Amino acid sequence: MYKIIDGKELAAKMRIDLKKDVEAFSQKHGRHIGLAVVLAGDNPASQIYVKNKIKACEEVGIKSFAYYLSGDVSQEELENLLRTLAEDKKINGILVQLPLPEHLDSEKALKIIPDSKDVDGFSADNIGKLCQGKDSIVACTPNGVMKMLESCNVDLRGKKAVVVGRSNIVGKPMAMLLLNADATVTICHSKTRNLKEECLGADVLVAAIGRAKFITADMVKQGAVVVDVGMNRDESGKLCGDVDFEAVKEKCSYITPVPGGVGPMTITMLMYNTYLSATRSEI
Ligand code: NAP
Repeated sequence: MYKIIDGKELAAKMRIDLKKDVEAFSQKHGRHIGLAVVLAGDNPASQIYVKNKIKACEEVGIKSFAYYLSGDVSQEELENLLRTLAEDKKINGILVQLPLPEHLDSEKALKIIPDSKDVDGFSADNIGKLCQGKDSIVACTPNGVMKMLESCNVDLRGKKAVVVGRSNIVGKPMAMLLLNADATVTICHSKTRNLKEECLGADVLVAAIGRAKFITADMVKQGAVVVDVGMNRDESGKLCGDVDFEAVKEKCSYITPVPGGVGPMTITMLMYNTYLSATRSEI
């Protein structure tokens, strides 16, 4: 019988603990922890993400500073803002909501964010440290997945983990975290041959593809742990993951749902990373 890894419940528990830590920090240092959130343009999905991040800040006691830039903001204006935030002592984390409008060079802009305030864990320094198994700020979504696996005592040592998807923000850091936890890791992508066979070998299967219900029951080994990072809409417009949950669940020991799985953990890990950045800035 499969068990659900409830991301919503775990995220709620983590936020209660985090709120206490944030309060203790603020009392000790006589100031708030601050997160700057930068949004350019009026992409509806980005607006919802930013709203949810600001709400999460309120929940855990982090002070949010929101910057809503117009869709035609220049590269120079954006970079000037990021330079100011980089210097600002009230700000412990800077988050630029992606994707930015097409005329902007996001890579160039993101480079302005100091590694110590890179709460998304996207900088070359943070990614490099992760690859070397050193302490770093880790990308929120894969870090959240690791917390979910820990919460149900999934022992990764020597297990075969397969990550489908190789993006810089999910697939690659996910694979690295699993490797650092002593799993034997395979990364699959759109050019992978025999994807089904690769997935069938997985004790732990992480889907980060962006295609609705792509992972079907015949791709999953009996007893596998299945983590679904995907956030898609099915044919009727309902939110669904990359895994065909109803068909796959019966084969799993553990499975994450969509919604209520990895999603709520991502924002919680952003709060956690901001707290971590603040504590490190005081060392
Ligand atoms: P992405 O940058 O588009 O990467 C998707 C990856 O899937 C790519 O590596 C791609 O391979 C691979 N892929 C695509 N089609 C495939 C196929 N037919 N077979 C095997 N691999 C295939 O997406 P992402 O940013 O990593 O996000 C992935 C999903 O996670 C999306 O649904 C996104 O909305 C969701 N997401 C959720 C959260 C959350 O908090 N829950 C956070 C971030 C992302 P190639 O590299 O070869 O193109």
